[in-house]
Amino acid sequence: MADMAELIRDLSAERLRANLADVHERIAAAAARSGRDAGDVELVVAGKYVAVQDLGVLARAGIAIVGENRAQDLQAKVDTYGDTFQWDFIGHLQSRKVKLVAPLVRLIHSVSTDSVLEQLGRHAPPELRVLVEVDVAGESAKSGVAPDDLGAFLERCPVPVAGLMTMPPRAERAEDSRRWFASLRELAARHDLAGLSMGTTQDYEVAVEEGATLVRIGTTLFA
Ligand SMILES: *Cc1c(COP(=O)(O)O)cnc(C)c1O
Repeated sequence: MADMAELIRDLSAERLRANLADVHERIAAAAARSGRDAGDVELVVAGKYVAVQDLGVLARAGIAIVGENRAQDLQAKVDTYGDTFQWDFIGHLQSRKVKLVAPLVRLIHSVSTDSVLEQLGRHAPPELRVLVEVDVAGESAKSGVAPDDLGAFLERCPVPVAGLMTMPPRAERAEDSRRWFASLRELAARHDLAGLSMGTTQDYEVAVEEGATLVRIGTTLFA
């Protein structure tokens, strides 16, 4: 899940449609298992695997929301496809890129530094909402606000915060992520936040069971 990803070659609309149907089915089943409405889970497709010229295949398969990791890729894709998709920013955000990214997206999933907050204060359009990335497991090398610092960070945020996002520690089994997803849900509840961006190819079903409202999925869609 590095920021830079190998681009998918020969992206087939048929295969993508079949994979997409499978993911939607699994989301629906996971939602049902936890008494949730699958309509409350949005699929954000990780666009980093798809070259600009191939993105039309995603639109034809019915994909509506694309999440990009890099400001330059986001800009190139928005320039080409405009409002064919809704755009999210899901990757590590450098503060000097906020000015470029903020007007292009509906949601930034990955706000976690004061330098980014400062730039948001200057450049965020009124309709922009953000999620705050939390390092729920306290991994020192990882980006994300520490759970204990979240309250103060939220108070300093100059734009509306729609929820929280996390990338759990690398794990062998999806089940190993459950406790981190549950922690994020509890943190969000404590701070009165409704949005939960959690779960990728390896663990999105567990994430939905634990309350994800946004899942960010790439690999399995393009397999
Ligand atoms: C690439 C990426 C994803 C999707 O991960 P997959 O394992 O390919 O489903 C989700 N979130 C972020 C931040 C990513 O960079």
